[in-house]
Amino acid sequence: MKILVCISHVPDTTAKINFTSDSSALDGNGIQFVINPYDEFGLTKALQLKEKHGGTVTVVTYGDTRVEQTLRKALAIGADDAVRLDGIPTDPMQVAGELAAHVQSAGYDLVICGQESIDYNGGIVPGALAAHLDWAFVNACIGLTLEGQQADCLREMDGGKEAVKATLPMVIAGKKGLVEESELRIPNMRGIMTARTKPLIPQPLAGTTPASHPASFTKPAPKAAVQLIDSSNLEELVRRLHEEAKVI
Ligand SMILES: Cc1cc2nc3c(=O)[nH]c(=O)nc-3n(C[C@H](O)[C@H](O)[C@H](O)COP(=O)(O)OP(=O)(O)OC[C@H]3O[C@@H](n4cnc5c(N)ncnc54)[C@H](O)[C@@H]3O)c2cc1C
Repeated sequence: MKILVCISHVPDTTAKINFTSDSSALDGNGIQFVINPYDEFGLTKALQLKEKHGGTVTVVTYGDTRVEQTLRKALAIGADDAVRLDGIPTDPMQVAGELAAHVQSAGYDLVICGQESIDYNGGIVPGALAAHLDWAFVNACIGLTLEGQQADCLREMDGGKEAVKATLPMVIAGKKGLVEESELRIPNMRGIMTARTKPLIPQPLAGTTPASHPASFTKPAPKAAVQLIDSSNLEELVRRLHEEAKVI
């Protein structure tokens, strides 16, 4: 079984986000980057499937040399090898096209993505990738078991769950529940040492053309200062909600 885990290299959730002076791109200076949290669930699931069914786990990121630290972390967690699609992505459709070209050239049985990247929050790449490949696709996947070529998936829906059957090869977009947080793997010293010698191969792009480009980014307005009202002063609370906030 050949499994590919698509890893998005994203700012740490605690990072203070700024844009370049013309507001056209993220200013990555001073930001710590991590494996997209949704992809950590996918990577752990891939390693569990490998342990059960045998095979290999490859991780891939479309990005420049800056993403290599994130790929090395994935190798330290347990992936066998890593591929870096060499370029700076600016458009999710282009990312999906380049990932599809890699999948077609290398041949995989299962591609695991995260449900969304926590930087650009597009939620576009996995579905577009499956469409490029003409493979089955299960979004918001919170459970996956394999029996030969048969995949049994559980998908989260608003207020419920959907059981989906599909035949490999397929793409899933996973989230918490695919594995539990307690199952996530942290690189240990041995993993960090062996990751240094595992293959991390830069590959040229296939040449997919971007379908769009970001024009500008805007930060949300700063939050107004909190007003604290003593719990014994309910009249004042009601007055402010009525006269100032005008919500009652
Ligand atoms: C330095 C830098 C600058 C960037 N600037 C921009 C920008 O200006 N505008 C922009 O749209 N994007 C930019 N990106 C790319 C962005 O991080 C994503 O690759 C992609 O655009 C995100 O699309 P999305 O939000 O729809 O992803 P989603 O569809 O939300 O991602 C879902 C899943 O798809 C997979 N995936 C997404 N992106 C990648 C990837 N690059 N490689 C491998 N798997 C991936 C992951 O499994 C992820 O969990 C930049 C990336 C870098 C490294």
